[in-house]
Amino acid sequence: MRQSSNLIPTLREVPADAELKSHQLLLRAGFMRQNASGIYSFLPLGYRVLRKVEQIVREEMDRAGSVELLMPALQQAELWQESGRWYSYGPELMRMRDRHNREFALGPTHEEVITSLVRDEVKSYKRLPLNLYQIQTKFRDEKRPRFGLLRGREFVMKDAYSFHASKESLDDTYNKMYEAYSRIFERCGLDFRAVIADSGAIGGKDTHEFMVLSDVGEDTIAYSDTSSYAANIEMAAVTATYNKENVPAETLEKVETPTQKSIEEVSAFLNVEASKCIKSLLFKVDDRFVLVLVRGDHEVNDIKVKNYFEASVVELASVEETKEIMGCEVGFLGPISVSEKVEIVADHAVQAMVNAVAGANEAGYHYKNVNPDRDFHAVYTDIRFIQEGDPSPDGQGVIKFAKGIEVGHVFKLGTKYSEALEATYLDENGRTQPMIMGCYGIGVSRTVAAIAEQFNDENGLVWPVAVAPYHIHLIPINMKSEEQKELGEKLYKDLLGKGYEVLMDDRAERPGVKFADSDLIGIPVRVTIGKRAAEGIVEVKVRNTGESMEVSVDELTNTLSSLLEVK
Ligand code: ATP
Ligand code: MG
Repeated sequence: MRQSSNLIPTLREVPADAELKSHQLLLRAGFMRQNASGIYSFLPLGYRVLRKVEQIVREEMDRAGSVELLMPALQQAELWQESGRWYSYGPELMRMRDRHNREFALGPTHEEVITSLVRDEVKSYKRLPLNLYQIQTKFRDEKRPRFGLLRGREFVMKDAYSFHASKESLDDTYNKMYEAYSRIFERCGLDFRAVIADSGAIGGKDTHEFMVLSDVGEDTIAYSDTSSYAANIEMAAVTATYNKENVPAETLEKVETPTQKSIEEVSAFLNVEASKCIKSLLFKVDDRFVLVLVRGDHEVNDIKVKNYFEASVVELASVEETKEIMGCEVGFLGPISVSEKVEIVADHAVQAMVNAVAGANEAGYHYKNVNPDRDFHAVYTDIRFIQEGDPSPDGQGVIKFAKGIEVGHVFKLGTKYSEALEATYLDENGRTQPMIMGCYGIGVSRTVAAIAEQFNDENGLVWPVAVAPYHIHLIPINMKSEEQKELGEKLYKDLLGKGYEVLMDDRAERPGVKFADSDLIGIPVRVTIGKRAAEGIVEVKVRNTGESMEVSVDELTNTLSSLLEVK
């Protein structure tokens, strides 16, 4: 491709509202443009990278036995009403009406569509298992679209769904998908980790997220410093045990804490450590109110609260609700003399506390010498976030944290959708059974951004060969020089003929501009044609190492083939 007839609008300035390196560079290097919040056009270079990632995904899915199809983005409301998600999905679902006033949604995911399709077409165990995938644009009206392609409102996803007659068959496909995902992200050159994202169960293996390790990731990964254990922090079970301090319980004492509300303020004011304070938070769990207690140096994990109550919605009670239920404002809440209507759930660590500090449920007061089981009763469970230094749940080593970008997700769905949509089959004995399902997603456009986030330097993007928009950036420095132009044309044809993807900068720009753009765009190898063109000598420069060498035209293909080897 000739650069003069391409659309690669590079920018020298960093776009104002782009915070992340990947977002800034994909805009600056002319790979994409924003149309509206969370909605982007892929310009020619960006589209090439997207297609390369898609192709890797496609090859590995095919290799793992999944079959590609394409379903509509526009989905009728009826299907979503059947599954119940029309009512539970919330404002992220882009809803619309057609000219007959019938309701539709733009698909954020396709469980409903595929389940109804398979329900209608597959009736017998003989046709199972079945694993189908598509690569398609998805729509989610995200609350906070940001970071460019990382969290868009319109984005490209690969979504696969599998259907089975037995749990063993699902396990088998799940493992194949897990391996395919590992290969996909390896081929993209990414530094990633598969982490447990199981809902609650210790060491469960029913869902994994594939996380690209990156300081800008929105997810926190809790991993063991000695074993291969890694989990999304939301899911990591706390297995720590706590010893009760061997001191006598003292008399409960109410003390004034006029303006001290937070744990920091209270512990500083009363001169006690945060770990001696009880943090009390009132949550609304579906329709009821629950007071959750953790030690002052710990944080409540609302996912664990949600799982414990098997609830659909868990949120902190509002200021008004707190006043009404506890008769007191946030900041002075505590577990003593709480209305029977409010259930109290406490973390295991709280049970081991002796002579603790807790809110008195009265503005301006706290209690000292609060003793669990003497002064209040609670149900004890694991309800806090794991912390660095906690023992690893698999019993090996201690927990450390890393940040990750979720690029993929494999999930055992079970019969949730097949039961709701009545996707059944006849088993060997002629009995009707719901199909057992799995689903497997990859954020294809998010993966492009994740690669850009991991592969860049101060001059621009540094694409790994496998996903680079082109292999070779061919740059005749001076287009007015006949020799350079001629050699440029010749090499361009030769290299294309050898199967390389070549971008030739045939613009009449100054060398400085050409080189700066070239670094910004980040094609793996640059071949510069300059003053030594007449002698048949060009310069080859490797983008990721900065290494450069003079090479004779005869030697060029040898040099390039070793530099551009894809593992
Ligand atoms: P997140 O927690 O980041 O919102 P999710 O759990 O909603 O992700 P899934 O429903 O599992 O995501 O979707 C499958 C994949 O699609 C994710 O692993 C992610 O890579 C990608 N994805 C999800 N939401 C977006 C988005 N708004 N923009 C780009 N990619 C996304
Ligand atoms: Mg989401």
